[in-house]
Amino acid sequence: MSIRAGLSTQADVTGDLNLECGVVIVGSGAGGATVAAELAEAGVDVVVLEEGGYHATESFRPETGRALRTLYRDGGGGATIGRPSVLFAEGRCVGGSTVVNGGMSWRTPAGVLERWAKQDGVLEISEAEMEPFFARFEARNSVGTQDPETIGRNSQLLKAGADAKGWAIVPNRRNQLHCAGTSNCSNGCPTGAKRSMALTSVPRALAFGARVIADCRVDQVTRTGCTVTGVTGYVVRPGGVRGPRVVVRARAVIVAGGALETPALLLRSGLRSRSNQLGRNLSLHPNANVVGFFDFDVTGWQGVHQAFQIREFLADGIMMSAQNLTPSMLAGVMPGYGRGLGELMADYNRVVTAGPLIEDTGTGRIRNLPGLGTQVFYRVTERDAARVVRGVELTAEALFAAGARRIVLPFNGAPVVRDPGDLRRLLASPVPRHSLELYSIHLMGTARMSEDPRRGVVDSFGAFHGVRGLFVSDASVFPGPIGINPMETVIALAMRNARRLVEQRGRYDLLCG
Ligand SMILES: Cc1cc2nc3c(=O)[nH]c(=O)nc-3n(C[C@H](O)[C@H](O)[C@H](O)COP(=O)(O)OP(=O)(O)OC[C@H]3O[C@@H](n4cnc5c(N)ncnc54)[C@H](O)[C@@H]3O)c2cc1C
Ligand code: SF4
Repeated sequence: MSIRAGLSTQADVTGDLNLECGVVIVGSGAGGATVAAELAEAGVDVVVLEEGGYHATESFRPETGRALRTLYRDGGGGATIGRPSVLFAEGRCVGGSTVVNGGMSWRTPAGVLERWAKQDGVLEISEAEMEPFFARFEARNSVGTQDPETIGRNSQLLKAGADAKGWAIVPNRRNQLHCAGTSNCSNGCPTGAKRSMALTSVPRALAFGARVIADCRVDQVTRTGCTVTGVTGYVVRPGGVRGPRVVVRARAVIVAGGALETPALLLRSGLRSRSNQLGRNLSLHPNANVVGFFDFDVTGWQGVHQAFQIREFLADGIMMSAQNLTPSMLAGVMPGYGRGLGELMADYNRVVTAGPLIEDTGTGRIRNLPGLGTQVFYRVTERDAARVVRGVELTAEALFAAGARRIVLPFNGAPVVRDPGDLRRLLASPVPRHSLELYSIHLMGTARMSEDPRRGVVDSFGAFHGVRGLFVSDASVFPGPIGINPMETVIALAMRNARRLVEQRGRYDLLCG
């Protein structure tokens, strides 16, 4: 069967699908939805295949378990293989991780762009060359600071602590329009204030005639010799049951499945990179949670997620912010069990959860293991472990300066600390690397870009070296970590690379209206 322009879900597909188009895009997250909208607007015949389901704003509720099951890959329960293991989460739905993310929107730091140009051989990546794409995203997706009344007491307390220490702290910039501060970002924004891809680029792509098919997993990129011919996959029925087969023939394939699924798909399709970097070079900005208890109500669940960022230590690869965790998530990071855990959780209304994000120097690797699927290996280096410990110490100092009475640290087995002296005494002995409790929501770098095929997997504009018609458009293309929130970089690069593809559409013989 075929399918009409517009959004379709598994319920619309009753038999095997055979489609033809100019460009087929795998994934509808930050990279995929952006490139889909740009190409569709330029008249290219676009099909987007998204493994996750479509979820309307009205369906979003403050129910973490439900959100994890419906909006995240593997229930948000990914973990790297390594010691310590790093827990990670990615979105899996129409809009990808932008549906569940915090909406922090920051341009790529100038120093990072410079590094990519000089060390990684990426062309046309200066601040001036990227500026129009950052500006376009910010204008289209309402990037700005919060309305003041939406800033919660948890963020204000972290700011008070940073101010007392004399540290630089900045208001966060987010893609939101009069966000109501419901602190539900990670479960899907129930007001529609967060301008995720599901509310912006996906509808734009649809308005320009794209076909977007939700509940459709791509399992292979097909090719004849060194030229891609399309993709194959299947419809995902409720409960993950494999449904009808999907075959799309296309002049170009853009893979935008995120930094784990993109290399996994390309590797299982038999593709290799001359640089041997496909699936390697994973960065993940390790994060840690520091939980401060106050002797008054903070009600961290009232007010926006991460209203500020402490930027004082950015040059050392450490950034800090406060984020409220839902009760079930907080219980997951607290020490102990039974009555002890119950007593800690009884003070849920009195906690500020904050922590560092580290610009990592370690790297990891994605591998498809027979019977086990995509596996993520990652090594936390001694240098990064030291940065985590330093970031935790600084966060705890800020929370004590704001009046915290006791603090739970993200070091397995560490005692609760009750004042800065306690903290100093604890940190006088080395913290074992394997005791760090880390998580990641920023996965990057597994199909790195470089003009040099011996160094990169894709060229400066996302074209896969040595395979005609194959492109990558997601966080995989970063040559390395960027030290701050990555969404705006993914989107700006996707816009820039889509423009290049449109300029070259004659070369790929794209079907244009
Ligand atoms: C909880 C959370 C909070 C975050 N907060 C922020 C923040 O505040 N600011 C910020 O800048 N960044 C944030 N991030 C990170 C940011 O959202 C990501 O860096 C960005 O969305 C990555 O874009 P992407 O296109 O690489 O992948 P994604 O946006 O994850 O999209 C990939 C899509 O591809 C689909 N897909 C994968 N494989 C297949 C396949 N085989 N077939 C079909 N579809 C497939 C997936 O289901 C998914 O929908 C956060 C992430 C998370 C998870
Ligand atoms: S805090 Fe703002 S952006 Fe986040 S879910 Fe609530 S209204 Fe939406």
